[in-house]
Amino acid sequence: MKNKQSKIIREQFSRSASREHSVPLYLTSSFIFDSAEQGRAIFADEEEGMVYSRYANPNTSEFIDRVCTMEDAETGLSFASGMAAVFASFASFIENGDHIVSSRAIFGSTHQLLTQLFPRWGVSHTYVDTANIDEWENAIQANTKIVFLESPSNPGLELYDLESLGRLKKKYPHIIFAIDNCFATPYLQQPIKFGFDLSIHSATKFMDGQGRVLGGVVVGKKDLLDKIMFFIRHTGPALSPFNAWVISKSLETLGLRMDRHCSNALALAIELEKNEEVVQVKYPFLPSHPQYELAKKQMKAGGGIVTFEIKGGQERAFRFIDALKMIKYTSNLGDSRTIATHPGSTTHSKLTAEQREALGIKPGTIRLSVGLEDQEDIINDIKQALEQTK
Ligand SMILES: *Cc1c(COP(=O)(O)O)cnc(C)c1O
Repeated sequence: MKNKQSKIIREQFSRSASREHSVPLYLTSSFIFDSAEQGRAIFADEEEGMVYSRYANPNTSEFIDRVCTMEDAETGLSFASGMAAVFASFASFIENGDHIVSSRAIFGSTHQLLTQLFPRWGVSHTYVDTANIDEWENAIQANTKIVFLESPSNPGLELYDLESLGRLKKKYPHIIFAIDNCFATPYLQQPIKFGFDLSIHSATKFMDGQGRVLGGVVVGKKDLLDKIMFFIRHTGPALSPFNAWVISKSLETLGLRMDRHCSNALALAIELEKNEEVVQVKYPFLPSHPQYELAKKQMKAGGGIVTFEIKGGQERAFRFIDALKMIKYTSNLGDSRTIATHPGSTTHSKLTAEQREALGIKPGTIRLSVGLEDQEDIINDIKQALEQTK
């Protein structure tokens, strides 16, 4: 198959003797050896074969293979959640005395790892605020082990220049360059092409895409993934075969769904920008986004998240959320159903007002994860809630 999309749909764990069309669910904790000799050979890494579902399972393998195809990655590993994937990507490599360079605007739990957990292990970090590549280079120290970022960021939708970061990687080949690629998805952005070592995802979001199961995945360079495999084998953050089966099937429609998430999100962003009750709208593919050109260069489309600031601060933001009829308030994103959240009072409530300001989170900031409903229904629900709360 020439085309990537066809390959993703057709990539399947080898058929069983039952000749099934769609992949079955392999609920088995372990796998039998045909002989004592085969058991020895598999344990000695002389022969490939599954052993135990903490290491690998047909359903998790198929899921990983599909993500590797999407990202043009050598290999990958799956995890019980996005945070398990993020944590393993750090914990497999860091040692006492190491240093991490990270973008400041990162997922809340990742921020907790860097600021609360890793300092206990003697690992420090420096946050970088800007896409300016000189500032990234200035943050690198002799003991820097990992450069980490999210692009686009949550919820500010700021971008980092992946091509420049890829060049920086070439200059510092001993440093691991890792990206949490969850907001963009492998369909819209492939960081490995730019030279990144590891691309990390919460599969809970757009990959599952229907708000059902948790999962995580890391793809990238084989020598690094081998080290993460050691960590997984002996710490056990394995993805359940059931969740892998659900997410792998969902990947067949990821591209289709992302096209619709993105067209709905862009239409909504344009509509919001025209509305007088709105102070500012952030969406990477809006020409008014300060990094519009960069977005077009490194992303296929703008993604499914739109952030805007409502006039009237937190009080109005709360009334707006309560006035929504179809759209619900829940702390997930990347669902087929549109979701509204107020980051200032939830995911980012533990930060100081100045820290929130630095991440572009105002009291009136609302984050929308734009779903797959009819564009008109999404826009109408938001417009009526803006109108009603004037
Ligand atoms: C949700 C999310 C995570 C964590 O994923 P879980 O599956 O909830 O553990 C990490 N990074 C980003 C950017 C996310 O949106």
